[in-house]
This record gives sequence, structure tokens and C-alpha cells, in this order.
Amino acid sequence: MVTDNINSLRFVGRVVIVTGAGAGLGRAYALLFGSRGASVVVNDLGGSIHGDGNSNKVADVVVEEIKRNGGKAVANYDSVLDGDKIVKTAIDAFGRIDVVVNNAGILRDKSFTKMTDTDWNLIHDVHLKGSMKTTKAAWPYFHKQNYGRVILTSSHSGLYGNFGQANYSAAKMGLVGFANTLAIEGGKKNIYTNVIIPIAGSRLTEDILPPDLFEQLKPEYIAPVVVWLCHEDCLENGSIIDSAAGWAGKSQIVRSNGCVLKKTLSDEVTPEAVRENWINITDMSNPKTFDTIQEVTAEIMTSVEKLKDGN
Ligand code: NAD
Repeated sequence: MVTDNINSLRFVGRVVIVTGAGAGLGRAYALLFGSRGASVVVNDLGGSIHGDGNSNKVADVVVEEIKRNGGKAVANYDSVLDGDKIVKTAIDAFGRIDVVVNNAGILRDKSFTKMTDTDWNLIHDVHLKGSMKTTKAAWPYFHKQNYGRVILTSSHSGLYGNFGQANYSAAKMGLVGFANTLAIEGGKKNIYTNVIIPIAGSRLTEDILPPDLFEQLKPEYIAPVVVWLCHEDCLENGSIIDSAAGWAGKSQIVRSNGCVLKKTLSDEVTPEAVRENWINITDMSNPKTFDTIQEVTAEIMTSVEKLKDGN
């Protein structure tokens, strides 16, 4: 597909779904996609921060805003758990689907001691299952057309943990694993999946962030990062991109060099050997990164070979 202006990133002819696009980050993404020529499906259930209730209003307002600015958009009011209906809206209205930005989210913060099954399940449903259902419904179209872009929304709460968010942290880290495999399975078909980790002033964070910081954390500062990741010129795949306050960077899981816990192949590994080597096992002064599961396995195999050779 040819962009209509080589000096700017455009999405002419592309159809983009943004879930949870009635407010906060999703709204900023949808508006920017709309202004760059994409046809946008503005999905939002219009519920509360905790996932109760629903309203068509928030999605309708964003659709109107996009149209007022000369863009193309339709609303969808289904939950992301009905991702097939969201994708159907895209196909019915625009005849194709190119990009899915999984952004919808709620919070049910409680310490793990007080957390109920409902708190756990609702968070996993909206964040993890909802992202899977919406992406899954778009996947056959992506395969057929040899093109697709997927964004999954994680959180520092997943990467580093956060008090009161055991449910949310687990679901958000689940999305990283989900992205890692989608990147592998989709990569050959020009379907690229990346994770965004935002920090933004929104209704999810208005009670937590001091007012002056809230102002500096506009969702509009993150939208360009997401929009670039979803452009056909962007070949990034399987990455975790952090962004906030007009800054962006990449996160990666690292591992220590570790150490071998026995001298010969036939030696037993004892808890004492683990204790004695703990400082080396956990030495993060010179960490390693791996891009594939094969690289990790190969390293273990090399270590076995060395033991065989008595090195
Ligand atoms: P927000 O509350 O402003 O917007 C989320 C939108 O999702 C709401 O409009 C809501 O109605 C919609 N939504 C909720 N459940 C839905 C469902 N089942 N189906 C469809 N729509 C649904 O929140 P936000 O801060 O813009 O958050 C957007 C995403 O970014 C979330 O996934 C959130 O977890 C993630 N995130 C936000 C921050 C931050 O600092 N704001 C940090 C890390 C991650």
C-alpha cells in the first residue's frame, strides 16, 4: 500500500480497531489514527472504572470528534469479550481490518488477602481474555491478507508488581507472554505484535497521580508511539515499549550469566551447592538478553557439552 504523502505517516485505506477508545489512552489513539487517514472502529462499553454498567455515549462522542475533524469512524459498544462482534463492525463498515489496538481496561485493586475470585476473574476477562478474543477474531483476516498489526497493553504493575494489584499484574504480564508467541506465529505473515506500557493521566490514575504530574502525562504523548508501532513501515515485532510524558524506551527481560552447580556430568546437585553459588547465580552485574527460546536452550546444551568434556 502506498502512503498518500511520503513526508507523513498515513493510514489511508487501513482499518483500525481501538478497544476502550471512549476515554483516556484509547481516545487519544483513536483520534490520532483518525487524523492520519485510518478508518477507526471506536470500541467502548462505557462502563465504570471497576467494570460495572455500560453506556454508548463515550464511544459516540469520540466518533463524532473524529468525524468533525474530517476522519472516518464508527462506534462499537460491545465488551472486548465479544471481540468477534467488534471485528464484525470493522468488516461491515469498512470491509477489512488491519490493526487491533487492545487497550480496554478496568481495575479491581485489593490486597491479595482481600481479593475475591470475582476481582481476579473480571480483570483477567477484560485484559487477557478480551485481548485474546478481539485479536483472535481479526487473526484470520490478517493471515489471509498477509498483513496485520497488534498492540497489547501491559503495565509496570505486571513487570515489577504493585501493591493491591495481584490480579492486574498477573493479567498484564500474561499479555507479555501472549505477545511473545503472537510475534513468532504472526511474524512470517507480516503480522507484527508489540506491547505498550504506558503511564498516563486518565480516570484510572487520577486518584493516584499528583495534579502537576497528571498534566505532564497526557495520553496524547503516548499515542504517536502506538501509531508508529501500527504503521506498515514499522518492522518492530515482539517488543515491549514503555512510554510516558513524551519519552519512549524498550524493556527486555534479562538473565544473569548463572553458574554450573556440579563438577562432572554424573555429580548430584545439592542444596548446599546452590547455597554456595547463590552469589554467582544471582549476579546481575553482566546480564544477558535472549531473543528466542532456542537461544536459551542452546546455552543449556552448551553447558551440558562442557560438562561432558570435563570443562
Ligand atoms: P480509562 O479508564 O481512561 O479507559 C479505559 C476504557 O476502557 C474506558 O473507556 C472503559 O469504558 C473501556 N472498557 C473497560 N472495559 C471494557 C470492555 N470490557 N470492553 C470495552 N471497553 C471497555 O483507562 P486508561 O488509563 O486510558 O487505560 C487504558 C489501558 O492502559 C488499560 O488497559 C490500562 O490497564 C492500561 N494502562 C494504563 C496506565 C495509565 O497510567 N493510565 C498504566 C498502565 C497501563
